[in-house]
Amino acid sequence: MDFELSEEQHAFARTAREFANSEFAPHAARWDAEGIFPKAEIAKAGELGFCGLYAPERAGGLGLPRLDATLVFEEMAAVDPSTTAFITIHNMATWMLGTWGTDAVCARWGEELTSGRKLASYCLTEPGAGSDAAALKTRAELQGSDYLINGGKAFISGAGSTDVLVLMARTGAAGSGGISAFAVPADAPGVSYGKKEHKMGWNSQPTRTIAFDNVRVPADHLLGSEGEGFRIAMKGLDGGRINIATCSVGAAQGAIDAARRYLHERQQFGKPLAGFQALQFKLADMATELVAARQMVRLAASKLDRADPDASTYCAMAKRFATDVGFSVCNQALQLHGGYGYLREFPLERLVRDTRVHQILEGTNEIMRVIIARKLLEGDCELR
Ligand SMILES: Cc1cc2nc3c(=O)[nH]c(=O)nc-3n(C[C@H](O)[C@H](O)[C@H](O)COP(=O)(O)OP(=O)(O)OC[C@H]3O[C@@H](n4cnc5c(N)ncnc54)[C@H](O)[C@@H]3O)c2cc1C
Repeated sequence: MDFELSEEQHAFARTAREFANSEFAPHAARWDAEGIFPKAEIAKAGELGFCGLYAPERAGGLGLPRLDATLVFEEMAAVDPSTTAFITIHNMATWMLGTWGTDAVCARWGEELTSGRKLASYCLTEPGAGSDAAALKTRAELQGSDYLINGGKAFISGAGSTDVLVLMARTGAAGSGGISAFAVPADAPGVSYGKKEHKMGWNSQPTRTIAFDNVRVPADHLLGSEGEGFRIAMKGLDGGRINIATCSVGAAQGAIDAARRYLHERQQFGKPLAGFQALQFKLADMATELVAARQMVRLAASKLDRADPDASTYCAMAKRFATDVGFSVCNQALQLHGGYGYLREFPLERLVRDTRVHQILEGTNEIMRVIIARKLLEGDCELR
């Protein structure tokens, strides 16, 4: 067992840090304030391979282990969790398309997506099917050589600004076994988008509902086989949960870095804040929890890389733990900044707003507990 990163892994992280500092840091506050989706900068991330980090090579991806992908996402999220989180969703959808897409689908979109020239959304949630995603009602019916899709999705990240929709729709009976996955052109006739949602955070990426009204897609746009869609969606989310957890770890690191600087700079009662032991202890606890969260995320990523049978359980644990820690550390770093932490001149309030949703999406943290407890009570997960 070796907990140290290799030289190559350090190099990935360094490249991502330099990229985020030059391309995200100067603009992240404005993108948040003005609701700008930075497609040009995302495409620049794509030039470095960051839009297809773990997508298979057949789709033009780098095919890297999940662990290596976390190193890149973490560095970018330390500067801008919102933009980075979208890039992780794009990576997840692109991996699904590259893994289960037909040759025709891969040829049509693979390299465009892995290069970041085109973007993908992941479309599972519906107005009536959130945590209970297997209850989704959007239908896809095979008619000749096309599927005809009708229904609607809610809360879709990037919707209205992306090019491909990785869509889960019902082709069979009720339940998870009746669901299939598709690659749908985002501008296909019959696809329409709702208003941009007004959100607490994640403002550098749009979130919208999507309606499908007699949308035709060729039968070869099915990912995998009929009935396999829910399994594909959950496989995507195993990695997605590591990614979101990583965005929380990165944001927490960014918040701790800011707090360390501030504790030295700010003077009260005739000395720097860093001189107060109550604040030193707070910082020590924040750092300890951050390291625990990071190690847990890397453990889950390495289990996924090794196709460990307990990987999904570890991904759920890592997502639950790291997103709770990430939000709490950002919030405490805001507290260490006093009133200034509440102002938009400092990044803390943005980090708090951006990390809050990580406890909700890609499966809420309650649903993570459902997944973990189920495995434990079935006696299937030994935890050692
Ligand atoms: C900004 C944002 C972006 C998103 N992006 C995407 C996206 O790109 N693609 C996509 O498909 N979805 C996306 N989502 C949707 C997200 O995954 C869902 O919001 C989430 O899964 C929860 O579903 P819900 O909102 O319907 O809440 P509900 O399922 O209605 O849950 C409400 C509350 O009840 C709790 N609860 C529900 N069932 C149980 C249970 N069995 N036991 C204990 N507690 C339970 C939940 O944890 C939650 O606290 C996004 C959401 C947001 C806010």
